[in-house]
Amino acid sequence: MEETTDRYARHHLIDWWDQKRLASARVMVVGAGAIGNEVIKNLALLGVGNLWVVDFDTVEVTNLTRSVLFRETDIGRSKAEVASERAKEINPAIQVKSLSCDLEYEIGLGVYRSMDVVIGCLDSIQARLALNRACLRAGVAWLNGGIEVTVGEVSYFASEEGACFECTMSPSMWEQHHKRFSCGGLRSDTEEAKMPTTAVVASVVAGYLVNEALFLLHRATEEPKEGLEPSQKLVFLLKPYRLDVYRLPRDPNCLAHERWEPLTIMPFSPQQITAKAVFEYLGMPEGILELDFDLLTHLTCLECGAVEEVLRPLEKSSSRLSLCPQCGTKARQPETICWIDKDSEIAMRPLSDLGIPEYAVLRVKQGGEETFAQLSGEYA
Ligand SMILES: [Zn+2]
Ligand SMILES: [Zn+2]
Repeated sequence: MEETTDRYARHHLIDWWDQKRLASARVMVVGAGAIGNEVIKNLALLGVGNLWVVDFDTVEVTNLTRSVLFRETDIGRSKAEVASERAKEINPAIQVKSLSCDLEYEIGLGVYRSMDVVIGCLDSIQARLALNRACLRAGVAWLNGGIEVTVGEVSYFASEEGACFECTMSPSMWEQHHKRFSCGGLRSDTEEAKMPTTAVVASVVAGYLVNEALFLLHRATEEPKEGLEPSQKLVFLLKPYRLDVYRLPRDPNCLAHERWEPLTIMPFSPQQITAKAVFEYLGMPEGILELDFDLLTHLTCLECGAVEEVLRPLEKSSSRLSLCPQCGTKARQPETICWIDKDSEIAMRPLSDLGIPEYAVLRVKQGGEETFAQLSGEYA
């Protein structure tokens, strides 16, 4: 028997395999739950060289039935951190970064722009919508995985062609999505219903997701051409067995299809620069910074008149904020802005005060002109 020291010797026996391509690949896994655990495990075993693991949650006891990377002693720790550590144990030759944060507000678009493929292992519509928009703007392909008890699905959304996740939203999905907000736009504290799932269906869907990611990563070197086409969705049933592939139609009215390019790379972090300075740097002194979200600026009590400054995204603000600490009534109303001009007081604040993250891409308009600028330089 001949012994080999090459960890990937069995991979090299596959004629279309390109281990070097995998070693240089940059893959972001969003969600380190049941599906994410299996996806991360597979990517690490395969030797995919650069992984990013995104999740803002912590490990709970109920995760242990479906999460191969978590142990009882991990309860209470960040899912992203634990999953990253375990991936490094599985394969010490790969780089794994954990991002214990909110994919929508805390990861700059420049991070997405640097990826080869993004794998969505999410369990909420809200998170999928946010990831979908980020990937379209960044021009990066993403795969969406979803599971129920014995049903799993994988969709492939290319940034340039075909349908996106938002195109596929049904009226009942929109209704479910909007239910999360109470009056005044503050977020209601009711959580989305938990899905009944098992490790079995999670591992099958993760197998398809990573298989598809392998095809995408190899596509640059032409072969193989198998796998899903853009806007195709694979759906399988485990009870009884069944597998179908559908084409998802593009919604001609979908507003999500916009690529945020070309862009100027700015060497300043959000701590170092204000909106006004951005306008000057871009040569757009009369510019307007369009925020991508409603920024809650003040809470004003309709009962006693007390005003509190609060700079945070409205969507991330709980309905509990309506309670006035001065008079004790639930009469506070949020005041929001969605753009900043050079004369506003907020234009003199560091962008980090407004919750704008590192590597964020800003959208600036002046007259009919629109431009994009990335903070913090290129993401490496
Ligand atoms: Zn769309
Ligand atoms: Zn009050």
